[in-house]
Amino acid sequence: MSTSKATASGTPGRTLRSPAQLAAQGWVDAAALPALEAVAARFAVAVTPAMLDQMEAASDPVGLQFIPDARELRLAPEERSDPVGDDAYSPLPGLVHRYPDRVLLKPLHACPVYCRFCFRREVVGPGGAALDAGSLARAIDWVRARPEIWEVIVTGGDPFALSADRIAALMDALDAIPHVQVVRWHTRVPVVEPRRVTPALVAALRRPTPAWVVLHCNSHLELSPAAREAIGALVDAGVPMLSQSVLLRGVNDAPEQLEALLRALVRLRVKPYYLHHGDLVPGTAHLRAELEAGRALVDGLRGRVSGLCQPSYVLDIPGGYGKVPAGPAWVQPAAEGWAVRDPWGGAHRYPPEPKAEG
Ligand code: SF4
Repeated sequence: MSTSKATASGTPGRTLRSPAQLAAQGWVDAAALPALEAVAARFAVAVTPAMLDQMEAASDPVGLQFIPDARELRLAPEERSDPVGDDAYSPLPGLVHRYPDRVLLKPLHACPVYCRFCFRREVVGPGGAALDAGSLARAIDWVRARPEIWEVIVTGGDPFALSADRIAALMDALDAIPHVQVVRWHTRVPVVEPRRVTPALVAALRRPTPAWVVLHCNSHLELSPAAREAIGALVDAGVPMLSQSVLLRGVNDAPEQLEALLRALVRLRVKPYYLHHGDLVPGTAHLRAELEAGRALVDGLRGRVSGLCQPSYVLDIPGGYGKVPAGPAWVQPAAEGWAVRDPWGGAHRYPPEPKAEG
């Protein structure tokens, strides 16, 4: 397959949503279309103009994240449609309650881009409508009735794909609940569609109850001037920002790639928070790095990179048993793969990673 951009002139003006559109602009080879159509029939495709502008080729660290690949049709037996076990912890549509003091609120399942490694790829997509008004009201009522909920984590899909008015309404509803002390928004929008970070969106986040923003970014090459400006607008408004990244082969699994990402984030006043080991997501074996390699990579940051730049390398235990540090205190080699301890003392097996292949 050709992986080089065939048309280098001008800025693509619209989000590309199909392999045919990607082929027409030279991002994928026409000969690969039958396989890529099969991929797109199962997993949504969307690449925004902002990300197309940051790509040189489908095989570069930005392209690998968004351009569909025929290898996504290879499903490994250990992969799961709900890799982090959200479903088992959902008391109502749009809510996931795994830890006592916090709850996930998912107001929509759509995103401006569709990442090839997304751990919710079986549920996100262009048909991923926002929660209807009744379901959202019931979710807010559920939070209001539980004084132990200290933090609401708004995720999705990408909740910054909502209008600024809807974000403001959600902030108002949560701000009115006295026991909710923090509202945390997980988003990729400031990077993948920075034009959405308008003064109205920034104002919507400013309530007495603080909004934190956790930015999903995996490569410093995603950080266009517009993305840097959008992040700056949020931080200048007093919104604290953290980042989360997924360890991905070819994207950030080389020391210089990871270091460049972490330094760029801190330079933008975004504190690296989590580096996620790749979840067991269907059709993503070619992107998942090995756990041992991930540990070596993160260990290598010590002493070389400022403490401000150090993320926690974490592993989500399949089945909904929570997130744990990926280091030896929690994850030990076992006969077949890994033995993992969960935060409540339970023991779990984690399968060995596939070896690198083409
Ligand atoms: S933006 Fe987030 S939720 Fe949406 S496809 Fe990417 S990883 Fe998944």
